[in-house]
Amino acid sequence: MLDGSDLRVTRPRRLVWEVLAAEPGHLTAAEIADRVHQKDSSINVSSVYRTLATFAERRLVRESRLGSDDVSYWETAHADHVIHLVCSSCNAVVHHDSDSASMLRREVFTAHKFVSAHVEVTVTGLCINCTV
Ligand SMILES: [Zn+2]
Ligand SMILES: [Zn+2]
Repeated sequence: MLDGSDLRVTRPRRLVWEVLAAEPGHLTAAEIADRVHQKDSSINVSSVYRTLATFAERRLVRESRLGSDDVSYWETAHADHVIHLVCSSCNAVVHHDSDSASMLRREVFTAHKFVSAHVEVTVTGLCINCTV
């Protein structure tokens, strides 16, 4: 995906992308920086943050607030209709394919003529492991 974009592929960009592509879940910038640092200790945290911002501008990655904490979680981009179910006990995050995002887009357009850019749906609660 990185090669298909018009972005110049630098070593930090390559390594940040590798870390994100290898992780099925969601990582904080600090966790990404840690993993990049294990691959190449010369890449510092600020270049990881810069790289994430660049990827976000190009919509190669998705940034979500998943917890009650004010921390961003990162992953390779996925569509708005894939929403996040966040367990408030074990912090597990489940991806759920839902019509809710497209319904919301239609609703707000009908009601307010508001054209949505980004829809973020997060459902908090208890996952299956925490309810049994
Ligand atoms: Zn849980
Ligand atoms: Zn996600």
